[in-house]
Amino acid sequence: MARIVMKFGGTSVADLNRIHNVARHVKREVDAGHEVAVVVSAMSGKTNELVGWVENMPKVAGSNAPFYDAREYDAVVASGEQVTSGLLAIALQSMGINARSWQGWQLPIRTDNAHGAARILDIDGTDITRRMGEGQVAVVAGFQGLGPDNRLATLGRGGSDTSAVAIAAAVKADRCDIYTDVDGVYTTDPRIEPKARRLKKIAFEEMLEMASLGAKVLQVRSVELAMVHKVRTFVRSSFEDPDAPGMGDLMNPPGTLICDEDEIVEQEVVTGIAYAKDEAQISLRRLADRPGVSAAIFGPLAEAHINVDMIVQNISEDGSKTDMTFTVPSGDVDKALRVLGDNKEKIGYDVIQSESGLVKVSVIGIGMRSHAGVAASAFRALADKGINIKAITTSEIKISILIDGPYAELAVRTLHSTYGLDKS
Ligand code: ASP
Ligand code: MG
Repeated sequence: MARIVMKFGGTSVADLNRIHNVARHVKREVDAGHEVAVVVSAMSGKTNELVGWVENMPKVAGSNAPFYDAREYDAVVASGEQVTSGLLAIALQSMGINARSWQGWQLPIRTDNAHGAARILDIDGTDITRRMGEGQVAVVAGFQGLGPDNRLATLGRGGSDTSAVAIAAAVKADRCDIYTDVDGVYTTDPRIEPKARRLKKIAFEEMLEMASLGAKVLQVRSVELAMVHKVRTFVRSSFEDPDAPGMGDLMNPPGTLICDEDEIVEQEVVTGIAYAKDEAQISLRRLADRPGVSAAIFGPLAEAHINVDMIVQNISEDGSKTDMTFTVPSGDVDKALRVLGDNKEKIGYDVIQSESGLVKVSVIGIGMRSHAGVAASAFRALADKGINIKAITTSEIKISILIDGPYAELAVRTLHSTYGLDKS
């Protein structure tokens, strides 16, 4: 017997038939004698619709009241998950399974006060643990919790993944299964490289990089949480027949296991190739090369909530002037240029240059820690295809390369084959 948290995303609960199908997945695990808690998203498209309602409320002409109140945003958008948790409990009951829905405030799942992007602080798992022990399935509404102001708080888009991992940690589950519309995590985006392979296992740290770089399978925060609490997390498809052979396999269900690196015996040097579109590069030319310059640049950008990613500073030739280049999301370029313009005196640069429409392609693998020459092969392969590199950053387990947008797909495919990730 094991304790399993099963999470179903929006496409998996998109309509009543799919909710019925989800109930069959749950029934399979219950029938196998496991203790089960379920976390659900809203029906696909629902959260967007709810957000749209909040944002499109007509405004009184000339009013300068805030556009909307974050607490009421949360009250509205959290409702999608309330609906699916109740519906799934009904579907389970109709199959003779003892099930009960739970809203975030009922457990409660305590969050901080950042309405709209709240962080989970604490989950009281006693009630659902006791009920699981009595054979009841808890169906928990994902994406929501209770803030310190005693009001509903939502966890940011994609937050149900985080709810699921947090609940798995709170009830000390043996496994957290994230059911979605893809059947696992791939070596790269299969829409770009059809030879991409599904990974059997990926280490938490690698998955964190993949998720941060736009592999949209999991909310980044859920991976952070899984890593901290060592929650073994499976990404798997809800669209497979719930009763197909192997679906109930306890150790090795179909999908990708995100786990501690110690669990990965055959570690490849490179695990995957990820990419992030819509990057922009900003360069400050002929900056004074003195203490405090970086702080003068990045302090105001941080205050403006602009996420800076790659940062490259040149060593100055004469010890007095240098250049600094960094990347921001394309959508933030104008804002960043404004902030840097406002601070021109304080920073002390000569000119600003910027370019949008760039792509960051990254090679990821914990095996890199113990292998030399991984970066060199990437540079060689891209050079052979005539792809120009604009900036490079590396970490222990990642090489990120900034290139022109139109070369993104070619670069991804090239690197995918360079490291032997193509399907055999
Ligand atoms: N329903 C929420 C969203 O669409 C949360 C989730 O699905 O994870 O962002
Ligand atoms: Mg999701």
